[in-house]
Formats: sequence, C-alpha cells, structure tokens
Amino acid sequence: MRTVYVNGAYVPENEARVSVFDRGFLFADGIYEVAAVIGGKLIDFPAHLNRLHRSADELGLRVDASNEELLAIHRELISRNGISEGVVYMQMTRGVADRDFAYDTDSMEPTLVLFTQSRPLLETSTSKNGMSIVSVEDIRWGRCDIKTVQLLYPSMAKMEARSRGADDAWLVRDGMVTEGSSSNAFIVTGNGIIVTRPLSNAILPGITRSALMSYAAATGTRIAERTFSIEEAKDAAEAFVTSASVFVGPVISIDGVELSGGKPGPVTMGLRKTYITESLKRAN
Ligand code: PLP
Repeated sequence: MRTVYVNGAYVPENEARVSVFDRGFLFADGIYEVAAVIGGKLIDFPAHLNRLHRSADELGLRVDASNEELLAIHRELISRNGISEGVVYMQMTRGVADRDFAYDTDSMEPTLVLFTQSRPLLETSTSKNGMSIVSVEDIRWGRCDIKTVQLLYPSMAKMEARSRGADDAWLVRDGMVTEGSSSNAFIVTGNGIIVTRPLSNAILPGITRSALMSYAAATGTRIAERTFSIEEAKDAAEAFVTSASVFVGPVISIDGVELSGGKPGPVTMGLRKTYITESLKRAN
C-alpha cells in the first residue's frame, strides 16, 4: 500500500482524509503539479515549483511550505514508495471553510496533498507506437494558463476521444489548435520546422514544452511559435505532444488522417531522445 502525504503527515493511502468542506472539493479551488521520476530522481523539478508559485499567485492562494520542504516531501515519498519510474502528484487547495462563494484566504489553512504513481515512462506503448488524436472543440474557461484542478472538460474531451476510437484529443478554438487534453501540441513541417502555439491565457505553459524548446534550439532545430489549424496539422510531416509524464509523445493520426506513414516520425523521436538525455542530466 502506498504512503501519501496529507497536511504534514505521511499516512497509508486508505487512511488519508480531506474535509468535505475543502474548497478544492467544493469549488475546484486548487492547483497542482505533476513531476516525473526517472531512476528515483525528479525531472524538471525547479520549473514545476516555479509554475506552482505562479498558479498560486494568480489565484491568491497561499503557499505555506518552502521550496526546500516541498522537495523534501517529494523525495521522502519517492523513497518510502520505492519509486524508480513514475510521477509525484502535488495538489494544494485554498483549504477548508463553510461553503460560501466568497473566501478569506488569510483565515484558512491551505490543504497540501502529495502522492506517487509508479509506472513506466521511458518505454511505453505510446513511445513505441505513437498515439491517435481527434479534434474536440475547446470550450474551457479563459485562464487555461493556470494549472487548476478544474479538469472536468479535459476529462470529457479524453472520453470523447476514446469513444471515437482514438487515444486522446486535441482542443480546437476558432479552427486553431490550442493544446492537448493534458499536453502541449506540436507539428513538424515538411522542411523540419517545429511549430507550437505561443503562450497565452489559452494554453498551459508546459514545463516539458519549455525545456524541450530550449534543448531543441541549442541543437540548431528551428522552432516557430505560432498558431496552426487542425487542417495544417493533418497535412504536417509529423506531430507530437509534450507533457511531464509522456515527455515527447509521437502522434500518428489526426481525425483519421495518418501522419508520417502511421509511425512515430524521426524528428519527433530525435526530440524525445534529446529531451530525456538532457533532462536526466539536470534531474534532482
Ligand atoms: N497542457 C495541459 C492542458 C496539461 O494538462 C498539461 C499537463 O498536465 C500540459 C499542457 C503539459 O504540461 P507539462 O509539460 O508541464 O506537464
């Protein structure tokens, strides 16, 4: 049985409790981060902490734990649960108060929960065979740049993709791809340029997106940050997604149209290798 962390205590998962009055439960008033673990070490951890603080600032949430404490909790859970490959999930909510739309953050204790998930990340069916994508309308709220636990629509989009026989959904607003249901979306043009949507309130500033783009730029890969349509994506040489748990995940079809011969593309797989090598060098 896993050990999880809840508000200062390490407890068996079946004994972990959060109040029914927690605003995370009643109002999705909370934020989260997911960091990958490879060989027992955290990938891109400082960047995940920076984004946690940004999300907290945007919502006026208090982060009481220091970065050193948060790193120590991550490491303790990795060690107690013997995680070699997997993820650490960290969620922070505004805390517990009687149900009311208005809140007084200062009088509340933030809730902090962390748990681990052990699973293969380096060798997966997605990394070997790629994933199929279908497009789904993006009807999310206007602050998709904040990593909140308000994930019902991305879940529904993923279920819609599954019901259409695909692995995942790309969200489309005004004909333009915003991002994946839980990933950033990229295409590779015929002349090898990597294209991804620029940062704005419409997408999450992905940690993997940003790290990959800096590693790719350092190796001379050309990158264009611009919007692209779902039609352009279907015509692209290759497509892929980035996220903390998938790293660089090859896309082999979009709305039933095959890309790169229905196999993971060479540029994508090169970028996957670069990302894994470079991020492991910097792992905590
Ligand atoms: N976009 C969305 C909507 C996400 O939910 C995620 C990850 O969960 C990402 C992008 C990728 O972000 P990261 O690379 O930081 O995991």
